[in-house]
Amino acid sequence: MRHFPVFLDLRGRTVLVLGTGAVADRKAALAARAGAVIRRAERFETGLLEGCALAIGADAPDAELRSLAAAAHRFGITCNVVDRPDLGTCIMPAVIERGPVTIAVGSDGVAPVLARLLRARIEAAIPPGFGRLAALAARFRDEFRRRLPDAALRRRVLERLFTGPAADHVFAGREAEAEAEFARALAEGAADAAGTVFLVGGGPGAADLLTLRAQRLLGEADVIVHDRLVGDAVLDLARRDAPRIYVGKARAQHCLKQEEINALLIRLAREGKRVVRLKGGDPFIFGRGGEEAEALLAAGIRCEVVPGVTAALACAAQEMIPLTHRGIARSVTFVTGHTRDGVLDIDFAPLVRSRTTLAVYMGIVSLPQLRDGLLAHGLDPAMPAALIERGGTERHRALRGTLDALVAQAPGWSTGGPALVLIGPALARGAGLAAGTPTAADAEAEAAEAEAEAD
Ligand code: SAH
Repeated sequence: MRHFPVFLDLRGRTVLVLGTGAVADRKAALAARAGAVIRRAERFETGLLEGCALAIGADAPDAELRSLAAAAHRFGITCNVVDRPDLGTCIMPAVIERGPVTIAVGSDGVAPVLARLLRARIEAAIPPGFGRLAALAARFRDEFRRRLPDAALRRRVLERLFTGPAADHVFAGREAEAEAEFARALAEGAADAAGTVFLVGGGPGAADLLTLRAQRLLGEADVIVHDRLVGDAVLDLARRDAPRIYVGKARAQHCLKQEEINALLIRLAREGKRVVRLKGGDPFIFGRGGEEAEALLAAGIRCEVVPGVTAALACAAQEMIPLTHRGIARSVTFVTGHTRDGVLDIDFAPLVRSRTTLAVYMGIVSLPQLRDGLLAHGLDPAMPAALIERGGTERHRALRGTLDALVAQAPGWSTGGPALVLIGPALARGAGLAAGTPTAADAEAEAAEAEAEAD
């Protein structure tokens, strides 16, 4: 780059245009459009430069142009001599105008034709409504600055307006709708400025099992508060400069107590931050999301929940286990195997009676108690079950068998990753079919159900 690009404010200032002809006329017209007072002359004399902000020479004899350039140079007046970059001190770029948005393309004076070709391409790429969009933004500028003093938040809100429906409205000539979008974004942004906590489900750990909404929020977060279960693949999608706060939650070694996590979320939100509280799986399934939401709402903090793929769904999909199957499993029960003071507090009777698929979270430690409880309440000891570790990630593993077999093998098999227990007749279906054919009773139940549904 040899020429330093600047945009000159010429309003009310004098511009000398030396020369007569089409090119000189064009330059004069352009400067006049920018609000300049034009002084035209055919022949140069030094006095013409008095009070000039800019001098332009075109369509004049060479000697005149040289005198102009030399004098301008002496007085330190910016000077452009058309097609003679060697004489002047500035060159004029090819210009694309879209309202207040001006794009200037220069080639240091060496390839003006190329610059003009480039201008044509840019002209074609930028919708003519772009200027109206910029003009609309200009009308809202002061209000945006006043009501959204945080520059990062303001930028985010504006970016969304310029790439979203507001821009579409403007380009389609729907000015009123576009204006309404601006007003709405402003109100929403102002509410955001008070701080919001997003309880976001991070899914089972694979980045591509995250929802698009979760991904967007991670990209926009001011701070991320996360658990142990959230994998690096997911965290990698977060905004680089957003601090991450790890609040733990490994079994029996909580880093922060729940009340401390709640207090942290409230404090961050009160600082006006956009907080992403990222949890493994779904926030409302054994994620204590309910407690956090209640604490936030009680503190008057805006809170939104973004669902995630919960472990049971990821594990079932991974292992090709249909959680419900017509005639075989009519419900799914998510149950926790977490014990309080060593006791598994589960009401076993309904779980055994109904045709259900049981998904037991945090069940690996209490697996023997779980088996004892279920069998004592009449569960068929041959009922298929599976232990699935790190389901939905590249490192997934599964162990299938009866509950007795799982209890016997689990301690040696487990590698310590999060694991889920699935139990129920549906485990014989899906990929389970490969291991054995469905029983006659299954076929009968399925037929009966199909008939009932046909009614
Ligand atoms: N909110 C989470 C569950 C948190 S409780 C969700 O919706 O998935 C933690 C328990 O979830 C673990 O003990 C384990 O039982 C289960 N879990 C979480 N991720 C898992 C995964 N990838 N594979 C298997 N089980 C998982």
